[in-house]
Amino acid sequence: MENCIFCKIVERSIPSKVVFENENVLAFEDLNPQAPTHILIIPKKHIATLNDVAQEDQWLLGEVILSGAAIAKDRHINTSGYRLVANTNAGAGQSVFHVHFHLLGGRSLAWPPG
Ligand code: 5GP
Ligand code: ZN
Repeated sequence: MENCIFCKIVERSIPSKVVFENENVLAFEDLNPQAPTHILIIPKKHIATLNDVAQEDQWLLGEVILSGAAIAKDRHINTSGYRLVANTNAGAGQSVFHVHFHLLGGRSLAWPPG
């Protein structure tokens, strides 16, 4: 998808600190971290929002979430606790319209979020 920052990160035309990659999923450090661990996990396939996830993408989205859980374990934040969140549309704070899950941890996280 043209003009999508995260597609460009997948293609490596924009650099990022990649922490995990497989055929379908990419995970990289957030540019503006909000917690000691703040990683973005995305499907390589361009999907704008969770509202646009099709039936055929079920497995892919499961892979994204399992990748997040595996990275949390890797970072040793799985026991202390972490949050895996996908802001959806502008009212929820989505600013990049390529589905991504924020993996946040390494500090205590308030609930409800702002
Ligand atoms: P959203 O606001 O859509 O839920 O999250 C977008 C996230 O992408 C933000 O946390 C922001 O810091 C991050 N971000 C935006 N542009 C870039 C970039 O070029 N590189 C990286 N690594 N993160 C980015
Ligand atoms: Zn994209």
